[in-house]
Amino acid sequence: MNIILLGPPGAGKGTQAARLTATRGMVQLSTGDMLRAAVKAGTPVGLQAKAVMESGGLVSDDIVSALIGERLDQPDTQGGVIFDGYPRTAAQAEALDGLLADRGRTLDHVIELNVDEAALIERIVGRYTCGNCGEGYHERFKRPKVDGVCDVCGSTEFKRRPDDNEATVRTRMAEYRAKTAPILPIYEARGLVQRVDGMADIDVVSAAVTAILDA
Ligand code: AMP
Repeated sequence: MNIILLGPPGAGKGTQAARLTATRGMVQLSTGDMLRAAVKAGTPVGLQAKAVMESGGLVSDDIVSALIGERLDQPDTQGGVIFDGYPRTAAQAEALDGLLADRGRTLDHVIELNVDEAALIERIVGRYTCGNCGEGYHERFKRPKVDGVCDVCGSTEFKRRPDDNEATVRTRMAEYRAKTAPILPIYEARGLVQRVDGMADIDVVSAAVTAILDA
């Protein structure tokens, strides 16, 4: 089963994808994670993407679709993938159709996480992760049990994404509204879209997503 999680930054796509990875063995394909890894490694793609990501704009369609194509050729994706943060434009949606068709795979669900934009800013600017294991935290909503110590691995190193500041988040949301939200009708016309209330508790959102996949 291959699914797309769609929603603005901070809607909870990454959180839900990580849960589906843990519970169902699906593979999370996050173009944001791939690009961050490329920036960190200083690859040609990373060098091209860095400034665009810092501004909150979108990296070129060709770059992200190539990353997804390469990843889909790895055997672990055969059992099903969650597209997280891809596609983000109509051109990417079209590219994804081709990438899947070339590999004899289909798209089964597009799940839109509906959220209130004002609340998203607070969610995003307060979030951070463990620098060692990647566990997610939030200044207000999910602090470690012991201040400054990761609940999962005990590390005391934490990190924040450089693009999780208010100005960049506003640009990222504007990009979502202008370029990503308009791809929903493409999938609606195919009867693939289902909506989930992304403002609910993480567990409630997970249950709703699971119900869609099990239906
Ligand atoms: P994300 O982790 O999904 O919020 O992505 C972080 C940043 O990476 C975005 O603000 C974009 O600059 C870039 N990015 C991630 N995925 C894409 C994509 N599918 N198309 C274009 N840019 C992307």
